[in-house]
Amino acid sequence: MSDLKVLVAGAGLGGLTLAQSLRNHRIDVTVFERDASPWDRPQGYRLHLDADALGAAREVLPADLHAVFDATAQYTEAFTTILGTDLSVIKRLPAQDEHGEGVWPAHDGPGSHANVDRATLRQILLAGLEDTVRFGKTLDHYASTPDGVTAYFTDGSQAHGHVLVGADGIRSAVRRQRAPHGDTVDAGITAIYGRLPRATAEPVVPAETMKDIFTIASDERKVFLGLGCVRFPTSPAEAVERFAPGVPMRDQDDYVVCIVGGRHEFFPNTDGAMRTCSGEELRHIAAETLRDWPTGAADLVRSADPASFFLVEMYTSVPTTLDAPTNVTLLGDAVHAMTPTLGRGANVAMRDGTLLGRALKKVADGQLDLAESLAAYERDMLAYGFSVVREAARVGQRRMAQNPLPE
Ligand SMILES: Cc1cc2nc3c(=O)[nH]c(=O)nc-3n(C[C@H](O)[C@H](O)[C@H](O)COP(=O)(O)OP(=O)(O)OC[C@H]3O[C@@H](n4cnc5c(N)ncnc54)[C@H](O)[C@@H]3O)c2cc1C
Repeated sequence: MSDLKVLVAGAGLGGLTLAQSLRNHRIDVTVFERDASPWDRPQGYRLHLDADALGAAREVLPADLHAVFDATAQYTEAFTTILGTDLSVIKRLPAQDEHGEGVWPAHDGPGSHANVDRATLRQILLAGLEDTVRFGKTLDHYASTPDGVTAYFTDGSQAHGHVLVGADGIRSAVRRQRAPHGDTVDAGITAIYGRLPRATAEPVVPAETMKDIFTIASDERKVFLGLGCVRFPTSPAEAVERFAPGVPMRDQDDYVVCIVGGRHEFFPNTDGAMRTCSGEELRHIAAETLRDWPTGAADLVRSADPASFFLVEMYTSVPTTLDAPTNVTLLGDAVHAMTPTLGRGANVAMRDGTLLGRALKKVADGQLDLAESLAAYERDMLAYGFSVVREAARVGQRRMAQNPLPE
């Protein structure tokens, strides 16, 4: 074990990827997570992973956990399906056509896109870190000196290390101090997420929905219905039993996530009124939003599990710079949060986790000093991170009338 001691605020996908990487490099790491447990709040459903996250999983996970990851990932065909409002297929867009300004990872061969279940992925990333992750610890602020960083928590406790990493998501407390000029803004979009069993969706939606990355239909208002399948080649519980017995895992059945979204004005959310709606009420609003479409789309939404629905009001970060490196840095949504148009935020957060893990290894090995190594990490992370933020905003504007990013 090296002498370097790393503190991480936030046990999301980015923070946990970093923790797995540091564990491999035998670097002392403690992760502080605000939630009381991994099951404290719903974390969402399907996640699209591309070469960034798939590469990160390969790099940081031990072989048994990677086998669980692989066995539970649905490797998709590299297409997005575009539907009419009657749910008939208009076209299939090859993923490489979406590369736009080169912000999607370049390789698009078989196995380069996967749909995975977010909770399953988080459990895989948490495995083996039981002594590393402290739940119920909310970072309030930190104090940085040339000798190290002290993190102060809302329960009055504190921790001291050589480096603090803010992996604490879009409302990052670490960013508030490290980059107070870093801003997030309303993207103008409301969305309602729910899920239905695969067997319910399969007879109603085109076959492409079950094998492509994502399926989307939209109308002249740019109100959209998005569908994404999660099919477990091996169920999470069976995969754990086969490859990593003893790893805690909640089982899941195959499902299709459905998202109804559009500009705020198409939803009855004045003064945040929808924030207190039950799942059933949200399902009703989602179906009503599609009332002028042929009936199949609203019926599909109505067939989803009422308890599964939740509200997302979309925000995006505004590309910025970081002041000269200190012993405090940021990763993932804490610095470059984006709208989910491209399904890339988790990918970039996991890429950050591996890149920062490698940068800290160079410090632990005495190859670079901390400021030098963090400067190289931040330069690369900000360049690719904010180029994806810009691309997500550009595509979001075109597809769902997202607000343009401020100048
Ligand atoms: C509906 C939706 C669908 C999405 N779909 C995709 C997709 O298909 N593919 C994709 O790549 N991305 C997707 N994203 C984006 C993706 O979810 C995020 O980019 C990703 O979760 C960012 O990971 P993170 O680790 O940076 O932050 P988070 O996952 O937000 O994790 C931050 C963690 O920090 C904790 N925390 C917060 N404050 C504190 C504090 N003060 N102290 C301690 N802990 C704290 C939080 O509880 C949380 O656990 C989607 C996002 C949404 C909203």
